[in-house]
Amino acid sequence: MSEILCPNCNSIVQLSDTYAQCESGHSFPKENGVYHLISESFGEILYPFLEGVENYQRIHNSPIPTELLPQTPYIGENTHQWNIRRKEWEWMLNNLPASPSTILNYGSWNGWLSNRLVDKGHSVTAISEFRDEHDGLGSNQHYTNIWTSLLMDTSQPLFAEASFDGIVLNYCFPYHDQRELLKHVHRILKPRGTLFVIGLSLPRDPDKVLASYQKIENYLRAEGKPIGIRDFTPFLTRADLELLNEFGFSIYPMNNNWIKSTINRVLRRGSKNIVAIKQL
Ligand SMILES: [Zn+2]
Repeated sequence: MSEILCPNCNSIVQLSDTYAQCESGHSFPKENGVYHLISESFGEILYPFLEGVENYQRIHNSPIPTELLPQTPYIGENTHQWNIRRKEWEWMLNNLPASPSTILNYGSWNGWLSNRLVDKGHSVTAISEFRDEHDGLGSNQHYTNIWTSLLMDTSQPLFAEASFDGIVLNYCFPYHDQRELLKHVHRILKPRGTLFVIGLSLPRDPDKVLASYQKIENYLRAEGKPIGIRDFTPFLTRADLELLNEFGFSIYPMNNNWIKSTINRVLRRGSKNIVAIKQL
C-alpha cells in the first residue's frame, strides 16, 4: 500500500473500515465507500461545487445503468466513448507493470479502469474530485472488485514519494496545471515505474467544447454555486503535447498499429485520440 498523506498537516494517514485518520489526529469520513481527504478550506469550494454539478447531471445526463458498470469497457459496441476506452485498455494491457503492482488511477470517473486493473491482480488506488455513484468514486459500490477510493484535491496528490509502480492520468490531463501535475506524478512514482496518459483528444471544434462548459457554468452561477475549483482549458492543445514531449513521454495516435508519432505529424493528421507513455 502506498503512503497517503494528510491534507491538513502532511503526516501519514491510516485507513480504517469507516474513516481515515492522520498521525496528528485529523480525522476524515468515509461515505459510500469513499474516503474524503478534504481540508476545510478546499471543502468550502468543493462541496457546493459538487452539489451544483450533481444536480446539473441529474437534469441533463442519463447515466449508464449501474448494473452494467462491471462490464465496462465491453459495453456499447458501437459507441465512440466505449470503442476508444476498449482500445486504450488493450494498449495499456501490453504496457502495464508486472502484476501485482500498485497503480494509481488518476481521475477515476465511473470505476471502469480500476475494475479492470484489479481483475489483472493489481492493487489500485483511485483519486478524483467527484464522489457520485454514477460518474464519480462512489461508483465503486457497484463492482465486486475492491480498490481504495480517495476524494481529494487532485492538483495536490496526497501521497509520499515513490508510492506507485504505475500511474494512469485517466482523461484528466487538460484539467490541471499540467507542468505541476507532471512534477507531482514523477514524485509519487517509484523508480522504474510507468506513467500512462489516456483520453488525449484534439478537438475538431474547440468553441463547441467551450460552449458545453459555459452551459454548466451558467447553471452553477444561477444556482449560486462555485463555477469551478480551478482554471483550466477543457481540451488538449499543442502546448500540452509539447510539454509531454519535454517530460520524455512517447506519443501514440490511436490506430491499429500503435506507431510512435511526433507532435507535428499528430497535429497535421488531426489525430483525435492520442495516448502517451513514459517508462522510467
Ligand atoms: Zn493531519
